Amino acid sequence: MQKKFEEILEKKIKGKITLKIVNDNKLILHVRKTEREKAVKINRCFLDAPEEIIDAVAGFILGNKKRYHRRKLVRFAREKISAEISDKVKIEYEGEVYNLREIFDFLNAKHFNNSITSKITFGRRFNNERSRSIVFGNYNPKKNLIRINRALDSHLVPEFFVRYIVFHEMLHAHMYLSGSNSPGHSKRFKKKELSYPGIKIAEKWKKENLDLFIKSANVQQTE
Ligand SMILES: [Zn+2]
Repeated sequence: MQKKFEEILEKKIKGKITLKIVNDNKLILHVRKTEREKAVKINRCFLDAPEEIIDAVAGFILGNKKRYHRRKLVRFAREKISAEISDKVKIEYEGEVYNLREIFDFLNAKHFNNSITSKITFGRRFNNERSRSIVFGNYNPKKNLIRINRALDSHLVPEFFVRYIVFHEMLHAHMYLSGSNSPGHSKRFKKKELSYPGIKIAEKWKKENLDLFIKSANVQQTE
C-alpha cells in the first residue's frame, strides 16, 4: 500500500519522493526538499484518502498554494482521526425537552455552511463545586464531540439559550477543524461569537437565571 501510494504521488508531482508513513497523530504532513528528491512524512490517515485530498497533498509537496492546501489537509486529517476515536462514544442527542441534533443541524446550515462534522450529545448534569462555576457545554477536539450539560434539557431553559450554547461549542469545532492552532477564546473566536445574533439576549438570560443552576455561586463560565 505504501509503495502504491508513493507511486501515485510521484506521478502527480512528476518527481521523485521518499515516503514515510507515520502513526503519530501530531504529524500530518511534512516535506523536506533535498537536491535530488523530496522526503515526505505523512500521516497514515491519508492512505485511503479521496482523489481530491491526494491532489492537495501533491500541491502541498510542490509548494503551490501551500496555505490553501494545508487547510484542506488539516481538516481532513483532524476529522478522520477524531472519527476513529469517537466511534466508541455513546451519543444521546434527544432530551426530554430539546433535541440537540435539530438545533445543531439548524445552526450548521444557518451559520456554518453545513461544514461542522462534529457529533453532539447530552453529557451528565454537572456543577463544578470546587471552582463554583457551571460548565454548560464543551468541545472535545480529539473526539470531535460536543457535550451539552443535561441541566439545560429543561422547560425552565428557553430554546434561545440552548441554541447559543450549542453555537458557542460549534464555533470551537469550527476553529479547530479549520486548522486554527489557538484553542479557547482567542480574539478571532470572540469576534466571530459576537456576530451571533442571539448572543446579547442569551448573556442577559444567563445573568438573570444563573441561580437555576447554581445556588450559592455567582461565578459562571462556558468552556
Ligand atoms: Zn468556549
